[in-house]
Amino acid sequence: MILNPGTSPLPLVLEPPNPRSEPQKRSWRTQGRSCDQCGREFQPRRRRQRFCSPTCKLAFHGLLKKAPERAKCAYCGAEFKPRRSTAKFCRPACRAAWHRARKRLAFTRTFPGGP
Ligand SMILES: [Zn+2]
Ligand SMILES: [Zn+2]
Repeated sequence: MILNPGTSPLPLVLEPPNPRSEPQKRSWRTQGRSCDQCGREFQPRRRRQRFCSPTCKLAFHGLLKKAPERAKCAYCGAEFKPRRSTAKFCRPACRAAWHRARKRLAFTRTFPGGP
């Protein structure tokens, strides 16, 4: 067996060309577009994107559930005006307290009598 001293045992690792660094013609990407629903300017991520957000898309097709005028907080029972149809708590503190209380409940159920 003859070892060739001219060749290095480790092949040189060539970095693959990064396609992202290459400049590409993306005129539809660089141009701002106005949302068909709210009219706000946005940067489209897809060529045929018409809305700035999924929310606007749903609203445009009339699929967005309107938030009710009044809702009752699931934790403290106070009435509040929800910003989303799924809002259950009047404030973030109530949400956190409710989750904490639920965890405690699960704990006492698992270990009756407490620790
Ligand atoms: Zn919009
Ligand atoms: Zn509350």
